[in-house]
Amino acid sequence: MERSLIILKPSSIQRFLVGDVITRFQRKGLVIAGIKMMQLDEAILREHYAHLVDRPFFPWILDSMMATPVIVMCIEGKDAVAVVRSMVGATNSRNAAPGTIRGDFGMSGQENIVHASDSPENAAIELKRFFREGEIFDYAPALMSSLYAPDEK
Ligand code: ADP
Repeated sequence: MERSLIILKPSSIQRFLVGDVITRFQRKGLVIAGIKMMQLDEAILREHYAHLVDRPFFPWILDSMMATPVIVMCIEGKDAVAVVRSMVGATNSRNAAPGTIRGDFGMSGQENIVHASDSPENAAIELKRFFREGEIFDYAPALMSSLYAPDEK
């Protein structure tokens, strides 16, 4: 099974959307393999958003992502990275399709509720960045046969 890193950003914490967002992933049939709250700092954000550090809005991203603690999650399932990205929607919430998390809960490109890994390779790197050894758990939900066909497991 594939794993993806999700960050419930300060915008979801401030707006009391944590339960709504997590419920969507669970109802889809994705497994929570790890979850914790943590305060991000500039060092980890410079690493995580290395592709954006030279952009003029990067200081806003720092302020936004450090405004409150965040909740980081390891979400697991078949093709979890692509499935989660499609559930999250386009980066700018105003362009995100209705039915997606950003499309339903946001109005902003910056304050867009969640981060989700964009490839399995980046997911592996990001999970190591945010979780320590022993914080991600291996277990299978009891109802696997109601979630997947034999060749999908
Ligand atoms: P995504 O989060 O959809 O993978 P990016 O990696 O391009 O998108 O951007 C990372 C985050 O940086 C976005 O989720 C958003 O919070 C912020 N961001 C991106 N572009 C802008 C922008 N033009 N202005 C403000 N914040 C931005």
